[in-house]
Amino acid sequence: MRVLVVEDERKIAGFIRQGLEEHGFAVEVCGNGDEAYTLATTRPYDTIILDIMLPGRDGLSILRGLRERKNTVPVILVTARTELNERLDGLNLGADDYLTKPFYVEELIARIHAVSRRVKDDQLGLLQVGDLTVDLMQRKVRRGEREVELTAREFGLLERLMRTPGRVFTRTQLLEHVWGYDFDPETNLVDVNIRRLRKKVDDESASPLIETVRGVGYRLRKAAPDGRADAR
Ligand code: CA
Repeated sequence: MRVLVVEDERKIAGFIRQGLEEHGFAVEVCGNGDEAYTLATTRPYDTIILDIMLPGRDGLSILRGLRERKNTVPVILVTARTELNERLDGLNLGADDYLTKPFYVEELIARIHAVSRRVKDDQLGLLQVGDLTVDLMQRKVRRGEREVELTAREFGLLERLMRTPGRVFTRTQLLEHVWGYDFDPETNLVDVNIRRLRKKVDDESASPLIETVRGVGYRLRKAAPDGRADAR
């Protein structure tokens, strides 16, 4: 795995390099935003670790540039605890994950593995949360060993929720995504379909994934690292 570490603080860059190399990664370090952007756009990396405050182009501008060029290389932002707004901007710009300094290198490695797995699944057209998998090509859904039969609308809802686990969608957002026409705002189509989806996906499982957020809408729980649904 080739990793580009964009970090101008030498101590931190050195610590990341050493930790990653000890775990078998090929690491390049760059401390200048302009040079980092050139590297990122001309060489293939499996993941980029990106600091925000840099001499030259800042990290968010690098990220924006990459995504505007449709470069989908996984990017993990490394931010200071105080950079909350930058972190949110970064996620909106298409960062795959973030870590706040200080962190353990083991944590960084876990995140690298997680984002590259996600990218691989994406290329295969697979969405996975816990033991729930959706094959977008074959339009097949499995919960553990069980195959789940869904209608087109139920499939659309599940796909929407699974693309960003943990994010809450309002009924209106789900209606627009799945039905996509002018609908009566009083309609209960979403609730009816979610109820059916739940019955099919969650009923026989010990860890339900589809969650109602009272007064707001619905979301899919994030999977914990051990593969079970995360109760947070
Ligand atoms: Ca910095």
